[in-house]
Amino acid sequence: MTITGSCHCGKTAFRINGEIPAQLTRCTCSFCAKRGALYAYYAPEQVEVTTPDGDALYRWQSNMVAHHFCQVCGNATYSDSPAFEMDGKWDGKTRRIAVNARLFDEFDAAEAPVTVIDGKNLW
Ligand SMILES: [Zn+2]
Repeated sequence: MTITGSCHCGKTAFRINGEIPAQLTRCTCSFCAKRGALYAYYAPEQVEVTTPDGDALYRWQSNMVAHHFCQVCGNATYSDSPAFEMDGKWDGKTRRIAVNARLFDEFDAAEAPVTVIDGKNLW
């Protein structure tokens, strides 16, 4: 299926070739806890940013993750990170896109089942 979504002002819109996962992900790390996003994960080739006019990004700590947001309306849009395994290993090249499912069209992320990642203690 094709999922579409956008930030509040529409300056950052995207299209995803994939499914909405059965479980969204909420991370407890210091950044995500304040950001409040609920994530759906995809491979980079599945995600196309169709109007990136408002795109801005924030990096912290290791600088390995690019947390994108809209510089106009401030909505958290997506994060581009290394595709870490559960044990923390990374092949050095594979990326993963965590899209904020709260921005999906015709979908209520607040009502979806959520898996919690213990980022507060993992990194
Ligand atoms: Zn915006």
